[in-house]
Amino acid sequence: MKRLIIILFIILSFVSYGCDTKNAPSPNSDAKVHVVATIGMVTDIVKNVGGDHVDVEGMMGPGVDPHLYKPTAKDLQRLNSADIIYYNGLHLESKMGDVLSKMPGDTKTVAVTDGVDKALLLSPPEFEGQYDPHLWFDVSLWMKAVENVRDSLCKLDPDNKAAYQTNAQQYLTKLMELHQYVKTQVERVPQAQRVLVTAHDAFNYFGKAYGFEVKGLQGISTVSEAAISDVQELAAFIAKRRIPAIFVESSVPSRSLEAVKAAVKAKGYDVQIGGELFSDAMGHAGTPEGTYIGMVRHNIDTIVKALLDETTSNKEE
Ligand SMILES: [Zn+2]
Repeated sequence: MKRLIIILFIILSFVSYGCDTKNAPSPNSDAKVHVVATIGMVTDIVKNVGGDHVDVEGMMGPGVDPHLYKPTAKDLQRLNSADIIYYNGLHLESKMGDVLSKMPGDTKTVAVTDGVDKALLLSPPEFEGQYDPHLWFDVSLWMKAVENVRDSLCKLDPDNKAAYQTNAQQYLTKLMELHQYVKTQVERVPQAQRVLVTAHDAFNYFGKAYGFEVKGLQGISTVSEAAISDVQELAAFIAKRRIPAIFVESSVPSRSLEAVKAAVKAKGYDVQIGGELFSDAMGHAGTPEGTYIGMVRHNIDTIVKALLDETTSNKEE
């Protein structure tokens, strides 16, 4: 019995020794660029341009509102261990400004909207002096963000410059096609019906690029709650213009738009909730809406379908 125990002990110590050697870090661990990105749309650019040469962690998943997002302790750890950090900028990640500006000197931080021609940026009067950060809804403008990621990765990791350039070119070609797709879909909607009402003002660039009149219940940021007077004003607009559908957003609670729908009904007009749009966050990974291209396609398809009333069989009152 004693001998058996000794043999068992020897076997066990061999097993544990084997495990230890297996887990020891190899000196040549892969030299991928370690990237942390904030919103999904930026993470998606890094995945497309960086390909196999980067390892990217996205901070904000589906349904997360970047205007309100506060970094967790785990986020801070991730940010500290990153080679490069990408964020949207233009105060989109308003609660993270401090963290991003206080990163140690050797960590590179890049706002992907940097260097976009200021003349192309929107600066609504109610936002005194600040720019609208929701650039990704004009696909042609978002292409500049792709170029910024490409150029900064080439600089940081010149060995893989050729790969970053090829990847970026392929992605930019897809985005040109996407821009055309949105334009073609919009043309199906008669001019007078091109009105987009959503939970917050995320779609101004969309409106400008593709010829839509855009109204959001809340302002450019979701930080301020909608007032009752805003609900009434928007409801009056919808009833007067007889807008068939309004849209909820995946990253904003839907109750405020439900209130608008009820206020419209009180004015004797029925407006439909036309579906859910992905505004400041993408869909779940593995679904078509879990990519930037998929979310843009989903949005325009949902908008066009609802405004043309193709969602249900047309019923006349
Ligand atoms: Zn927003």
